[in-house]
Amino acid sequence: MDDLSTMFALFYGLVRNFGEKMSDHESGDKPKGIEEQLKEMLGNAKFIFAGQPEPSTAKPDNTKNENKPKKEATLKAIEKFDLKPRDVRDYLDRFVIRQDEAKKVLSVAICDHYNHVRQCLVDSDLRDREYIKHNVLLLGPTGVGKTYLIKCMARLIGVPFVKADATKFSETGYVGHDVEDLVRDLVKVADGDVGLAQYGIVFIDEVDKIAATGSGGGKDVSGRGVQVNLLKLMEETDVSLFSQTDIIGQMQAVMDMQRGGSDSSSRRTVNTRHILFIVSGAFGTLAEQVKKRVSSSPIGFSGDKVTDVSDGEYLRKARTGDFVTYGFEPEFIGRLPVRVVCDALDAGDLQSIMEKAEGNIIEQYASDFRGYNIELSMATEAIKAIAELAYQEKTGARGLTTILEKIFRDFKFELPSTGIKELKIDLKSVKEPEQALLDLLDNKESVRREVIQNDIDLFAAKFRDEHKIKLVINKTAREAISVRCLADNLTVKRWVELNFHDLEYALNLISRNTGKKSFSITKKLVENTEKELADRIAASFNTKV
Ligand code: ADP
Repeated sequence: MDDLSTMFALFYGLVRNFGEKMSDHESGDKPKGIEEQLKEMLGNAKFIFAGQPEPSTAKPDNTKNENKPKKEATLKAIEKFDLKPRDVRDYLDRFVIRQDEAKKVLSVAICDHYNHVRQCLVDSDLRDREYIKHNVLLLGPTGVGKTYLIKCMARLIGVPFVKADATKFSETGYVGHDVEDLVRDLVKVADGDVGLAQYGIVFIDEVDKIAATGSGGGKDVSGRGVQVNLLKLMEETDVSLFSQTDIIGQMQAVMDMQRGGSDSSSRRTVNTRHILFIVSGAFGTLAEQVKKRVSSSPIGFSGDKVTDVSDGEYLRKARTGDFVTYGFEPEFIGRLPVRVVCDALDAGDLQSIMEKAEGNIIEQYASDFRGYNIELSMATEAIKAIAELAYQEKTGARGLTTILEKIFRDFKFELPSTGIKELKIDLKSVKEPEQALLDLLDNKESVRREVIQNDIDLFAAKFRDEHKIKLVINKTAREAISVRCLADNLTVKRWVELNFHDLEYALNLISRNTGKKSFSITKKLVENTEKELADRIAASFNTKV
């Protein structure tokens, strides 16, 4: 059978069975039985036609109550929204370096948006009045904090937040994902709470890639169609919680309708009226396009030497007409009334991100090392050098992750097993991390020996607990294990796995023959384990009790 006929047969069986059960229900059977029956029949199967995207897994899970108090608190906070733009900006300042203009504009947009939501909640007349939502268009290069700004704002207000790249959507949802999946994902993030999801924030990155073909920067043929679909979403529409490919979800929706559920707990659509949409993109070629327009215009940058002006300045000069020429529908751009540019970050900004931003990446590394009781400290000149190297990556603050990952990779692997309690990163560690690690390990051989001795004790204690056999490991045996671990760069655990794999079996056998429960581990046993154990076993048969 091909996909379609299999699907049809399954669906037919399902509907027939469903019909039978519905009549049971009418005669007094509990509807839950039907649901269970359906679930049994369908199991966890997902039905996907060839070439179709996976269905969104967003399901309204009304049984989950663990987060209920938090959700209720958030809904209350929206009902009583009283933040001022300055409060939001001050909060953003704690986490995001620079981007002052974006912080201001976004703070105003977000306060206006949630103030309007609050007013609508108390005054239903207002709800029906025309209102232009403060959807935002954020322009600027990658890794400069566009997403981070929005994430921080969503966290401050407590509303659900989702992010997706515009490039993953296609016009029909047939090849790529459906734009409505974004709204379904909000419900997922809100733990199935539709009420909360409809006040969420949707962030769509790389929106410059859905400019229509034949324009300044666009490549995607279906870009215009995706814009139209997004347009509907940005304005107001009801989105079904189940995508067309989600058969189980749709059946569940039918069942709920049959059950006559009309309360909010069984709502199957999300209204997008109060969802705030923020779209962003680098718009690199738009800057070029505006540059051409401005430089050919006598009032462009009023006599500035055009070459001195950054991309950001040109993007600030972009008008609606420039976006239309770029490949955007006028209606689409018109639904994004708030436009703001985020600037590129220089090496000094990257240094500030590491030193000043709350919850910054260095704090994260420090916390990772603290997990192994290692205190991390960074010299200022090291931070400066990292910022310079990251700047050369040309990926904004993302470059920091790349550089730090390279520097710390081997330290993270080696140090936790060495007993070293302190890691000081200086300029040398940044330039030659491998050598710095070797130096640290050389200098710390005594620490490493201590750790090995400690691990030998742990091994003996564990052996006694697990096998009820006491190991008396003498001094020369300890030294022999230590020498081998250091020479082959092994942990005691690994050395034991490689060399003492027959120890338990052999000692148990000897114990059975002799009744002994305590065994000495000698240098001879460490250096020639197999032979020594064989000799001891043979001897135990001679003394069998
Ligand atoms: P984009 O501009 O491409 O959306 P992101 O906001 O996702 O970039 O930035 C990636 C990460 O880099 C953030 O999660 C954050 O940790 C860090 N970052 C980027 N810009 C800044 C900034 N201006 N201040 C503080 N951290 C930043």
